[in-house]
Amino acid sequence: MMPDEPLTLMTVHAHPDDETIGTGGVMAAAIDAGRRVVLATCTDGALGEIVIADRDTPEEHRRLAATRVLELEAAMAELGVTEWENLGYRDSDMMGRAGNLDPRSFWQADMDEAIGRLVWLVRRYRPHVITTYNDFGGYGHPDHIRTHLVAVGAWQRSGDPAWYPQQLADGGLEPWAPLKLYEQAIPASVRSAMRDRLRELGRTWGEPPEGATDEERAEFEVRMARMLIPDEQITTKVDVGPYLDRKFAALLRHATQMSTDHPFLVFGVEGWREFWPFEAFVLREARVETAIPETDLFAGIA
Ligand SMILES: [Zn+2]
Repeated sequence: MMPDEPLTLMTVHAHPDDETIGTGGVMAAAIDAGRRVVLATCTDGALGEIVIADRDTPEEHRRLAATRVLELEAAMAELGVTEWENLGYRDSDMMGRAGNLDPRSFWQADMDEAIGRLVWLVRRYRPHVITTYNDFGGYGHPDHIRTHLVAVGAWQRSGDPAWYPQQLADGGLEPWAPLKLYEQAIPASVRSAMRDRLRELGRTWGEPPEGATDEERAEFEVRMARMLIPDEQITTKVDVGPYLDRKFAALLRHATQMSTDHPFLVFGVEGWREFWPFEAFVLREARVETAIPETDLFAGIA
């Protein structure tokens, strides 16, 4: 590490908006602590839903990728983040839909090529810490699963000069091995608390749809079990209480994606303060010594 090189966090995400939902707090906190924050988003989010009824039109869908570039820019301004990149893939839509077969999609991408794109960014920005999703992509979306694979691949390859040597020769970059790799986590206790409160309000979230068959219920629980992390497996819990106002403001900037009626937003920032005043992670890999449990992604480095 060069003496004047800032400690750097790179968050790797699937679509514009995922960065704010999952890591908006740690991104704002790192900026305030004088660290460098670089967001790497893998896709353009072109096939997302539009949650605002009167904007849910063919014209708005046609320009959705462009719209989301601007929403992301506004969200990053709320968080104080000034550097972000995109790997250049098209949104893969959900499994089984036509978008999932699009040769431009992230789902259809050659993985060595995709990992090489992220390796390029890792070698360029030299992050000490990288965050991504678990191998279920957090909730099973194809782009989120791919994001996990690409981030883990970049973690393994970016420090090895034998991988993507043309980046070193032609681009003038050096190999760079980040020091810690995290997976974001939703602790099981957060789901239970939010589900119970939403139930009191007559809303459902975090439970199977009404009228679900036994089979559908079982399937739902399997999916939940892969999505939620038992609290005792969380290695790292970062208090983002002081940043919740900014995180909440940033969420609202993703206007086509987040309605104020969304279960994540319906309680307002006070709800986040009550249920989710921290961001949780599982430390997947480390090239430094650190003591678990941690309260800072840079523990053992800074
Ligand atoms: Zn996403």
